[in-house]
Formats: sequence, structure tokens, C-alpha cells
Amino acid sequence: MECKVRSFKRNAKIVATMGPSTNNVEIIEELIKAGVNVCRINMSHGTHGEQADRMAMIRKAAKNLGREVGILLDLQGPKIRVDKLPEPLDLKDGSEWVIGETKYQAELPQYKDCYIPTIYDKLVDDCRVGERVLFDDGNYSAEIIDKEEHIVKIRIEAGGLLKSNKGINLPDTNVSVPSFTAKDREDLAFGLTQEIDFIALSFVRRAQDIIDVKEMLKEAGKDYPIISKIEKPQALENIEEILEVTDALMIARGDMAVEVGNHLVPRIQKDLIKRCNELGKPVITATQMLESMIDCPSPTRAEASDVANAIWDGTDAVMLSGETAAGKYPIKTVEMMDKIVEEAEKTPHKLPLLRNVEIDTITGSMMVASSMVAEKIGAKRVLVVTETGYSTLEMMRFKPTVPVLGVTRSVDAMRRMCMYWGIRPFHIPYREDDANIERKVIELAIDECQLEAGDRIVVARGDGRFFKSGSANNIRVEIID
Ligand code: ATP
Ligand code: MG
Ligand code: MG
Repeated sequence: MECKVRSFKRNAKIVATMGPSTNNVEIIEELIKAGVNVCRINMSHGTHGEQADRMAMIRKAAKNLGREVGILLDLQGPKIRVDKLPEPLDLKDGSEWVIGETKYQAELPQYKDCYIPTIYDKLVDDCRVGERVLFDDGNYSAEIIDKEEHIVKIRIEAGGLLKSNKGINLPDTNVSVPSFTAKDREDLAFGLTQEIDFIALSFVRRAQDIIDVKEMLKEAGKDYPIISKIEKPQALENIEEILEVTDALMIARGDMAVEVGNHLVPRIQKDLIKRCNELGKPVITATQMLESMIDCPSPTRAEASDVANAIWDGTDAVMLSGETAAGKYPIKTVEMMDKIVEEAEKTPHKLPLLRNVEIDTITGSMMVASSMVAEKIGAKRVLVVTETGYSTLEMMRFKPTVPVLGVTRSVDAMRRMCMYWGIRPFHIPYREDDANIERKVIELAIDECQLEAGDRIVVARGDGRFFKSGSANNIRVEIID
């Protein structure tokens, strides 16, 4: 009955984006075996039908393996994109193209061989001659050289093969798209009909963006954690207020690099991770972590270092995008990431120890105390018994050095804990009338972790009923006999 989880050797978690390269249950099973903890569904791509199928496949794969993974629904936000192209466009350096709404394409036959369609309807109004246009996470650049009623003309400075649905960035332009678009609303409504665990918001600019979505969720009677994707200069200006209301952060380095410049990204990454660590809010480092593995079976040295450095910065999770969604080697990429993270974590002196962080909750104090007890007595595991996963979130803040099992009877809590640094979710079915539940938990943990006589474990639990939600305020040491 109980759900076995492979006890990963690493603490930081792996988020992988699902897409055409991960389109069957067998591949997803392999991905989970290779180490994926959370699957990301990017609502920027594919239809609701495709994404629903993908989510069903993820649940099936996890079930087949007797594991749990989290599902993260990523809402596109106000991103301007190239619309569907019958085939990729070869943007040659120096060539001239026009960008216009898809609906005008047929009316403008004079541009039929150089038309880049988009569904964004304010592009011509927003842009001015002389401003830059960037495509595909800033890989290709162009300048606006002219404007007509329905199109802007551009000249390619640095080009390449432009594919359907790639992003368009206008770093010099004051873009008028609202934060939470009509598409986001539809996508969120769709997401609420599915078994999801986290919601990510793209291009967050201020706290209100998050509050708006939380209100929508509340109306629907849901309380999914919100992950704010930080990628706009405005978000960096408003980071304090955003951190106050968001549940977690994603450092969305793709669009961020385009918006603020590549040279600032490493410093921003370090700063955001530090802030999240101090607040105990999970932070995901994303984009191009092993990018070259989209086409090659091994990464560059720089990419391997990038993953390791994110771990040393203190990130809770690292993310794969195109590598798993549309790459040639999705499984190899996850295996590679898993290995790099595991090795990086072998240098614990480089990991931030956050014991000095201010603690203002009883649960937090209990968690730091239990992780310290575990460390002092050389315990093999800390068992945190939790109804919602909240105690393990508090535990995560202190980067405990002893592996932690997040013991719960709630499947939702298990899936949330998949994102938490250092927490191995552990499912125990439980009945109200089960008087021996505590004994059972310990026995199952002994079995799961292959503990031996004489091994010590620390059990941190709530008062009252064993799984009662609230403050965990009991710490006990068990010696296995
Ligand atoms: P975002 O800005 O939200 O990260 P993105 O376009 O960069 O959007 P990613 O999720 O980072 O998208 O994935 C990288 C690439 O993988 C995409 O540009 C796309 O080519 C491909 N991809 C991802 N998900 C899908 C999907 N469901 N269907 C088709 N292609 C996908
Ligand atoms: Mg993005
Ligand atoms: Mg991306």
C-alpha cells in the first residue's frame, strides 16, 4: 500500500519540462527513475488536450513506479510569441522581414515570403522605429526599420532558424500587455480541472499579480502554491513585496537575460537565492542549465559548472526546459543533472548553513532543534510527521545535514514535498482508529531506509492526534532494536 520512494542521494530537486520528447508513459517512467521530482507543464505550448494527456501519463508513470512526483502548471503570462509556422523561417543576417498579426497575413500578399506572424495585437502600436526585436530567448536579434498600418519591418542583425512559438522580446519597448492575460485565465481554469500541485506565473511584475491569482484560486476553493517567475526588471525592483506574498520563486534566466542583459544574471541569481533561503521559500534555478544536451549526449563544462554553482548558491531545485521537453536525450540529461547535483553536494562546506536565520514559529524552532539533535547523535534519519507538508517546509529552511523523511498520509502533501530541498516524501496510509500508527510509521521507515539495530532516528511530530495539522512540538529519539 505504502508508496516507495527511491531515496535520492541528493537534496536539491530536479524539475523537468514535459513536451514532445517525453510523450509516452515509458519515457516518463525512465525520467522519474533518473531523478525527476517535479514535472513542468508549460501552457505556452500545445493544446489543453495534449497537456491533459501528458498529465495523465505522468500520474500513470508515477503510479507504475509506486512514487509521487509534483506537477507544475506554468502559465505563459504576457509573453509575445511567434505564431505557428508551417516550417521554420531562415532569418539570414541582413535580411528584411515583417512582423504582424496572423490575421492580417492573408491580406498582405506582398509580404507572403517574409511574414513573421504573432497573435499579439498591440505590437505595431507599441513599437517604434529603431527599437530592438529579439527572438528565441534573445538568440536572434533585429532592428525595427519601418512601420506600416498592420506590420513593423525589421532587419536581422544576427539570425538563424526561427521555429514556431518562439518568444519575441522587445527590450526597448514599453509593452502594453496585461500581466494576467485572457489565455492565462483559460489555462488556469483548465489547470484547475487537472491534478496539479504548483502554479507558476510568468513575467510577474508586482505583488498584486500574485494576489490576483490567489483570489481566483480562493474562489475556486484551491490553495496551490504560487511560484513567481522572476524575469522582468520591474520584478527585481519590487522583489520585497513579491517575496512577501509568493510561495516560491523561479529564476527564469531566459527572458531575464534578454530583459536585463546576460552580465547581470549570475549576480541576480545569487541574490534571489539568498533571499529565498532566508525566508524559507523554495527557489528554482531555470533555463539553459544543460542546454547543449538538447542536441548532444553530453553537456559543456560551463553547463556542468552552472548546475553545480546553482547548488552552491543554495538553490532548492534546478530545472530543465528544452532539454527534456524537446531534446534528443531527455533521460541522459536528467541522469547528468542528478550526478552533477550529487557531486556538488559532497562539498557541504560550500552549502549555506542557515541555522542563524531568525525563527518566528514554533514549528520552525522544533524543526531546527530536531535536525540539530539528529546531527549530534549521528541519527540516520529525521522523520517529520506532517499533514500538509508545512513542517517539512520549515525544516527545509535549515538545510539539515541528516536526511529527512516527510511522513504524511496526504497525497497532496507528498507531491508538494517533491519540491522541498532535502525532504523525501513518504506516504503512510492511516485510519482514524489506528492506535498503533506511530509504531507503524517507525517500522515502515526502518524498512524503507534499511535501518539496522542500533541505528538512531529522530521523530518530530505534532501533538494531539498523530497527523494533526498544526505545530510540530514533540521530538523523540528512537534507537532501533
Ligand atoms: P518559457 O519562457 O515559459 O520558459 P519557452 O518557450 O522557453 O517558454 P520552455 O518550456 O523553456 O519554453 O521549453 C523550451 C523549448 O521546448 C520551447 O521553446 C519549445 O520549443 C519546446 N517545448 C516545451 N514544451 C513544449 C510542448 N509542450 N510542445 C512543444 N514544444 C515544447
Ligand atoms: Mg520565460
Ligand atoms: Mg524557457
